[in-house]
Amino acid sequence: MKMKMPEKIDSIMFAPCGMNCQICESHNKEDGCPGCLIDSTNKTKASLNCKIRACLDKKEFKYCGRSKQNPCKLIKKQDKNYKKRYNFSTYDNAKKIKNTGIGRIMSENRDEWACPECDGIIILQNGECSDCDYKKE
Ligand SMILES: [Zn+2]
Repeated sequence: MKMKMPEKIDSIMFAPCGMNCQICESHNKEDGCPGCLIDSTNKTKASLNCKIRACLDKKEFKYCGRSKQNPCKLIKKQDKNYKKRYNFSTYDNAKKIKNTGIGRIMSENRDEWACPECDGIIILQNGECSDCDYKKE
């Protein structure tokens, strides 16, 4: 689905693990996943069954970056997987929240994942712009 990057990515798009749902392929398709933090039955199985999300539901803070156990086994495994498959570190993103705050991360993520050619959303999983032929290095 062709999608333009919003001027500002909403902080609700920032999953507890550091994943940015705005640039996720599951979010950017017809009738796609609304996002990890949005209550819906229309989410991907991975999101509905996410152990990281379930863990955070029991804590007083909302993001892995604030956990004393960081990095825990769950986030380590996920981070390794995402780095290998998509060259994206969820854990680095999650950690930044402590130092820079969520507004800043969302703005950095926007700059990094907006297509320089057309301002479309570049999909995290394949690095391709959803709206033109651009591919992220
Ligand atoms: Zn583009």
